[in-house]
Parts: sequence; structure tokens; C-alpha cells
Amino acid sequence: MSRKVDFLVVGSGIAGLTFATKAAQYSQVLILTKKNKADSNTNYAQGGIASVFADRDSFDYHANDTVKAGEGLSHKDAVRIMVENGPKLVRELYNEGCLFTLDNQGDFELGREGGHSHRRIVHAKDYTGYEIERVLLEEAKRRNVEISENEIALDLIVVDGECLGLYFFDANKQKLDYILANATVLATGGTGQVYLHTTNPPIATGDGIAMAYRAGAKVANMEFVQFHPTSVYNIQIDGRAFLISEAVRGEGGILKTKSGKSFMDKYDPAGNLAPRDIVARACVSEMRATKSKYVLLDISHINADYLKKRFPTIYETCLKWGVDITREPIPVVPAAHYTCGGILVNTWAESSINRLFALGECSCTGVHGANRLASNSLLEALVFSTRASEKAKEIKEIKVKTTMCMQKTACTGPDYRLQIKQIMNQYVGVMRNVKGLEKAHRSISDFCTKFDDGVLIQNAEARNIADIAILIVKSAIMRLESRGLHYIREYPEKKKDFAKDTIIRRKES
Ligand SMILES: Cc1cc2nc3c(=O)[nH]c(=O)nc-3n(C[C@H](O)[C@H](O)[C@H](O)COP(=O)(O)OP(=O)(O)OC[C@H]3O[C@@H](n4cnc5c(N)ncnc54)[C@H](O)[C@@H]3O)c2cc1C
Repeated sequence: MSRKVDFLVVGSGIAGLTFATKAAQYSQVLILTKKNKADSNTNYAQGGIASVFADRDSFDYHANDTVKAGEGLSHKDAVRIMVENGPKLVRELYNEGCLFTLDNQGDFELGREGGHSHRRIVHAKDYTGYEIERVLLEEAKRRNVEISENEIALDLIVVDGECLGLYFFDANKQKLDYILANATVLATGGTGQVYLHTTNPPIATGDGIAMAYRAGAKVANMEFVQFHPTSVYNIQIDGRAFLISEAVRGEGGILKTKSGKSFMDKYDPAGNLAPRDIVARACVSEMRATKSKYVLLDISHINADYLKKRFPTIYETCLKWGVDITREPIPVVPAAHYTCGGILVNTWAESSINRLFALGECSCTGVHGANRLASNSLLEALVFSTRASEKAKEIKEIKVKTTMCMQKTACTGPDYRLQIKQIMNQYVGVMRNVKGLEKAHRSISDFCTKFDDGVLIQNAEARNIADIAILIVKSAIMRLESRGLHYIREYPEKKKDFAKDTIIRRKES
């Protein structure tokens, strides 16, 4: 390809597509995407997108709920920007053709999820992300955004503190190549595949965060990995665990032990609607106490016709596996779900490297702090990708000699991903302890030393997984307290001294 574009976007989920469809109105945009263009976390989002529409709701309530979940680490300016821009942008998606579910009055039917004080979850039944992805891909086509599939971004080209583009592997032609751009936009999604059990699809190997880290960008709050409490036990589809949306608890679902005893009231006054971290820890505690490999999620007491209409995907999928959710409980376990940390950005999505933006799940805007409130991630991606597309108008042309870019050599590296995933599951999961974290650090550091310096083609994802794992473990070791999603057994309390972001930057830079 070896070409130059105005804006080079990596990733075709909600973040990359939102930026691209808006920036394409005034500039040339190219999206590189690793596999099929709809292959993204976005495509699997079920519950919905949080935004203030209800009469009794307000921006203050939404901001307060978000900050409360963030346990002292949410950046309040970013939170305010997110909640205030939400309704306009969600309405815009609807106007572009997103088939959000409406109530009898023709308004958005608003769902309720854990940690939200009001009903504010706009949704398209239980396939909201699929619907958003569909509409944004259509919009991208309408606006002539070029989307190049099967192109794997490998490493950023950074010269004198400026990002000039990146190296990528063209899987169609089996060739290493590069592209230059006035601005490079990372929208590569999450890191769930660093763990053995995850709700994330195989694309979620943290590539953008790993690339930015290797290039010297600041990366923040990687210890805050959200484990979704309710993924279906022991069943994987295409390399990911199937999620039972939080909205199921919002509609009355009750967590029970294997013998049928409900337990959430013991752990939190909000019971089954407590924030995810509390629910995930409660599930693990109950599983340990009852020596069971799963707990149960029971929604069978709710009207069967309503359940089939409200949760068609969940109903059909569970039925295929022999569980009729209208009659019996679903066996569930926690699984790695969402990365609250990422490439540190300001409220315009600019990273600490010039000409490099980061959007969506791979970024850390500071909105989520130590814990993400359900359905805030699609909103965050929508709002800050839109702002980035406005900021990018100011970007000036790069001046660069193309010859300087192909000096890098291609190399290969080992594939330790299974070993790393096992270590992460065992020592860096829902409940951590210092010894385990140190053990994980030693083993994963060992794996990291086995990769040569160069643009890795084969097993590029394995190196990214190793880099992400080490970032999570290092950040966890740096935070000797328990806060939000990060829980260390020896330090169960929150400490004043740690009321700040954990920021890591590669030593050499
Ligand atoms: C099962 C599930 C349910 C969820 N439900 C909700 C919900 O109800 N509400 C909510 O707010 N959030 C939900 N989330 C979280 C939310 O879906 C994600 O945070 C959000 O979609 C992330 O969007 P994104 O655009 O940042 O990344 P993604 O949608 O993951 O897109 C990343 C893109 O980057 C590409 N990519 C990655 N690496 C490379 C590379 N090296 N080269 C080229 N391309 C690359 C991928 O192929 C993909 O196109 C859910 C997540 C999951 C997994």
C-alpha cells in the first residue's frame, strides 16, 4: 500500500466508525481493520447505551452515578462532557436508522442496569451493538470511507515525538507495509483475550494499547479490568464466552447458589443490582464457599412472553444449549469483559504523542475511573470519537521523507498466549494477592524478553498479549489498596494516597 492519507483509523467498531464517518465529511479517511469489518466488541454489545432521556433523570444524576462507580478516580470534566453530549448523539444514531426499541408513546424504551439511579439505557432489544455497527457501516459507505479488511496494524512510526503513521501486515497479500498519515487514530477495542475466560471476541488482544505503549505513549489504569459477573458457564462461541446482559438483572433476574439460595442481599444494599465488581466478587466468594464451578441466574419468574420479546438473542442462544430461561436458571461465571484503562488521552482524545488519537475501549479518558458503569462504554466511544473528529480539523500536513519508514525489519516471535492467559486467570483475576501478582510478573516478564526488537509479523498478537498482561500486572502491583475493580486480599481497604491514576510509560521513552 505504502501511501499517505489524511486520517488513518485502526479499527471498525463504534469508535473508529464514528470518527471516520464524521471526519470523512471534510477529509480523506482510511480504516484498517484486522478481520471482517463487523468483527468487533461493538457487534456483541447487548444491554444498550446509557443516556439521559427520562423526565425525572438529569445530567447531574448520570454524572453522579458514573463518578460514584469510579470510586474517586473518574475525571469529572470528562464525565460531564460525556453525559451532556449523550442525548444528542444517541438521537443522531436513531435518525441515521438505528432501530432502538420504542415504548407505546414512541419514545425510547429505557432499560435499567446496575449502578444507574434512573432508567436510562437506550437499547435495540438485546442486540444494541449489532444495530449500531450495522448503521455506522452503512453510514461509512454513504460517506465513502475506505475500509480495508484483513490488515493488521503492527507498530506505530514515531519520529521526534510525532506519530507519522504505522506498519501493518497485509494478510491478503501476506506482506509487511506502511502507511503515513497526518493523524493516526487508534480505535482497536479491548484486551479481554489476555484472559482465558472472556466475553470479548478474538480480535480483542489489546493491539492499540500495546503499540502505543511500545511507541512511548502514556498508558493509564490498566489494573482496572472489569469482569462481567454473568457469562454462561462452560460454553464458548467462536473463542468467547456468551454474556448474559446486566439488563437481565435489571428486569428482575436473581443470582442464586447452585442449591437455589439467593445471596446478593448479603453483599450490597442494592442486591442483584449492585455494581459489577461487587457482584463478580460475590459470585466468586459463593462459588468458593459452595465448592461449585458456577452460580445460577434466575429470571424464570418473569412473564415468559415478555422475556422472549425483551431478550430474544439470550433466549434463543440459551435454548440451543438446553437452558429454557423462562423455566429454569442459567449457570453463570464471571469473565473478563472490559478494560477501564488504556492509552491516556485528554478530553479531545489526543494521546501523549503528537498526531496520535486514541478512542473507545483502547483509550483512557478517565470517565470510568476504577470501575465502569454498565452501558457507559458505547456512550464514551460515541462522544469522544465525535470530539476527536472535530479536533482533527486542526491537524496540519506532515512533512516526511517516505524513505525513512521502511528501515524496520520484519521478525518473528514465540507464541506464549495460552500460558499467559492461564497465568492471568489464576493470579490476576477478580480477587488478587501480592504473592500471586509477583509470580505473574516474573513469569510474564520472562516471556516478554523472548521477543526481538523489530516489526513482528507472525504472532504479533502474542506479543501484544504479553505487553498488555505485563501492563496489567505492573499496574496492579503499583496499587497496594483495593478500589473499584482492583481487589488485593492483603490490602482490602481504599487508601487516600492511591486516589490517583496509575500511569506507565516505557522506560526508554
Ligand atoms: C459481549 C459484550 C457485551 C457488551 N455490552 C455492552 C453494552 O450493552 N453497553 C456498553 O456500553 N458496552 C458494552 N460492551 C462494551 C462495548 O461493546 C465496547 O467497549 C465497545 O464496543 C468498544 O468499541 P471500540 O470501537 O472501542 O472497539 P471494538 O468495537 O472492539 O472495535 C475494535 C476494532 O479494532 C480492530 N482491531 C483491533 N486490533 C487491530 C489491529 N492490530 N489492526 C487492525 N484492526 C484492529 C478490530 O478488528 C475491531 O474492528 C460489551 C462488550 C462485550 C464484549
